[in-house]
Amino acid sequence: MRMIPILMYHQVAEIPRRLDPLGLAVPPDQFLDQMSYLSRRSCRCLSLAEAVDYLCRGGRTPERSVVITFDDGYQSVFSHACPILEKFGFTASIFLVAGRMGGKSNWEGQDEARAELLMSEEEARDLARRGFTLGSHTFSHPRLTQLSDEAAFEEIMGSRLLLQDVLGQPVAFFSYPYSDVDARLEGMVEKAGYTAACGGYYGPCSTFNLWRIPCLRDETALSFTLKVNGGYTQWTALHESAPGRILRQSVHSLRKRLNLRRPRQPVVLSHGSEREIERGP
Ligand SMILES: [Zn+2]
Repeated sequence: MRMIPILMYHQVAEIPRRLDPLGLAVPPDQFLDQMSYLSRRSCRCLSLAEAVDYLCRGGRTPERSVVITFDDGYQSVFSHACPILEKFGFTASIFLVAGRMGGKSNWEGQDEARAELLMSEEEARDLARRGFTLGSHTFSHPRLTQLSDEAAFEEIMGSRLLLQDVLGQPVAFFSYPYSDVDARLEGMVEKAGYTAACGGYYGPCSTFNLWRIPCLRDETALSFTLKVNGGYTQWTALHESAPGRILRQSVHSLRKRLNLRRPRQPVVLSHGSEREIERGP
C-alpha cells in the first residue's frame, strides 16, 4: 500500500521564537510558499475522508497526493491558513479541543502569555460550511494513555458529542494529543464511532493510528519537498544511519575547530527535535 503523506501542522502565525520553543508555528509566508509548491507540482490535496477511503479499499492511491491537518484548532488557522488553502483550492482537517473553543491553549498550565487563542464555535461552523473537515482532539487535551478507561473514553466520546452539537454535523475523525496512542485508545476511538484517527509517527500505522509528518517553523524547501514526496522515512533513516552519524559528527567537530556557530536556519532536519515535536502538542 502506497502511503499518502498526511501533514501535521499546528499554528500558521508569526510568533516570537521564545514563545514557541517547539517551533510549531509556521509563518504565513512560509505556509503560502509550501502550498504554492504543492499547487505548481499539480499535487492533489485530498480530504481525510478521501484518503481513508483509498487506504481502506487497498487499491491504487493517486500519485502526487497529500492530506493537510491541523491540531488544536488555533485561531490563526482560521484567519491565516484557511484563506491560503482556499486560494489554491485545497482543503484540510482541523482537530479541535472541544472544551476550549474560543479560549486559549494553556492546557499544560502555562501562563497566558505563552497561550495562543483558539478558534470560536462560530469560526468552526464557518469552516465546516466552507468544506473543511472538523474533527476532535479530545475535550481538554490530556495525555490519554495516563487516564483510566472511563476518563479516556469520556474525553474521546464526550468531545465527539459536543462537537456534533456545536457543528450540527457528524464528527468522523479524531487526533491524539501529543500523538500519545496505544492499542487500548485505538479501540476506544473505534468504539466511540469515529471512522479513523491520526497519530504521529509511532506504533503500527492503522486506520486508528494514521501516521502523520510534522511540518514545523524551521522547515526548509528541501525538507518539505522530501516530506510531501514520500522521502521522509528514507531521510530519517539516512540521518540515523552510521554514515549519517559519522557525517554529522565530522561537521560538528569541523564547526567547533573553526569556531563556527550553527546557522540560524538549519539546512537539515533534526530528527531528535522531530521526535520531540511529534510527542509535543
Ligand atoms: Zn494538540
